[in-house]
Order: sequence, then structure tokens, then C-alpha cells
Amino acid sequence: MIIAIDGPAASGKGTLGKRLAAHYGYRHLDTGVIYRAVAKALLDAGFELTDEARAVAAAQALDPETFGDPALKSQAVGGAASVVSAIPAVRQALVDFQRQFAAGAPGAVLDGRDIGTVICPDADVKIFVVAAPEIRARRRTLEAEARGEPADEALILADILSRDERDRNRAAAPLKQATDAVLLDNSHLDIEGGVRAAIAIVEAVRAGRSRV
Ligand code: C5P
Repeated sequence: MIIAIDGPAASGKGTLGKRLAAHYGYRHLDTGVIYRAVAKALLDAGFELTDEARAVAAAQALDPETFGDPALKSQAVGGAASVVSAIPAVRQALVDFQRQFAAGAPGAVLDGRDIGTVICPDADVKIFVVAAPEIRARRRTLEAEARGEPADEALILADILSRDERDRNRAAAPLKQATDAVLLDNSHLDIEGGVRAAIAIVEAVRAGRSRV
């Protein structure tokens, strides 16, 4: 079973996907981390984020061992990831890795922007997660403060809005809700409430299937 979680508010530290995977005993991949790792490799080496050849090389050289690096979580790396992820050849270079992850037993939860539309269009359950940008900015600010990073909520909101705009309007795998995805607005849900709502969606989709 494959569960695809997409949407502008899909990852939020990967918490929802991680929790859902733990609930079902599945493996979890926060695909935003992949784009963040590619972006950070370019930033660290001092290369332009728009340098296609170098970005593709970084994507091909990706080491999953680095996915836990806390530096990947910063707002700056997230913004850089949204630039790098707009390069079609970079996305292409990362397709197989994501599909192989999705295909393994016993099942997988992948969260990102294009899982239900491009990476796993046949996913068993697709959830599209949204939240008001102001609420996401508040959450990101609190997370940054908890990590001891300085955080300016107004700047974070501006960054969220420009990143969403870039993700929605890019030509390659733009952020959009798959026609068979269920919308989950977690603006007014805490983490537990969001997890419960997502589990309810999975169960409803499964129940609907088994009746067919
Ligand atoms: O979800 P997260 O904030 O970690 O993602 C960072 C950026 O990576 C997103 O803004 C988006 O541009 C890109 N991304 C993507 N496709 C994915 C996951 C993330 O384009 N599947």
C-alpha cells in the first residue's frame, strides 16, 4: 500500500507522514528533504542554484545518509530547494529513487508536492494537505525558535507565499491536487488532530475500495 501526501502544508517537518507511517508500520520518505539536500550541496559548494549540470550531478550523487542533517530544515535551504526543484532534469534524476522507495514492502508513505500526480499516480490513498499561509508562518516561526534560530514571522510568511507561488506555477510537476486526492485542511488542527484526520481518510478510502 502506498500513501501519497502532497500539498503546500504536506511536510511540516515530515510529522504527519512520519506519524501515519508509524501508525501503519510503513516506511516513510519526506521527499522535500531530497530537494533540500540537493540545494544544500550546491550552496555548500558555492554553485548557482540554477546551474542545471551541477544540480543534476548533485541529485545523482545524493546520499540518503545525509537526510537527517538538521541544517536541511532551515528556511534558507527550503527556499533554495524550491528553486532547484523547478529544474526538470533534477526532478527526473530523482524519480527512480522515490519510486523504488515507494514500491518496497510492507508499504510506504511519501510526502511532497507531486507524489500523487507524478511519482506515484497509482497510490492507494492520496491526501492533499493545506493550511492558511499565516498559520503555517506561525508554525515555522515557532519551529525555528525551538531550534534556536532567529525567526522573523513576516519574512517567513513572505517566503512561504513566494515558494508556494513558484511551486504552483513551475512547468515541471507543478504543485496541484490530484483529482482523486482527498483534501485535508489542518489550519485549525494540532498535530494529533491532523494525524487522526489523515488516518480517518485512509480508513475511509480503504473501506470504500473494499465495497467495490
Ligand atoms: O516540503 P519542503 O518544505 O521540505 O520542500 C522544500 C521544497 O522542495 C518545496 O518548496 C518544493 O519546491 C520542493 N519539493 C518538490 N517536490 C517534492 C517535495 C519538495 O518540488 N516532492
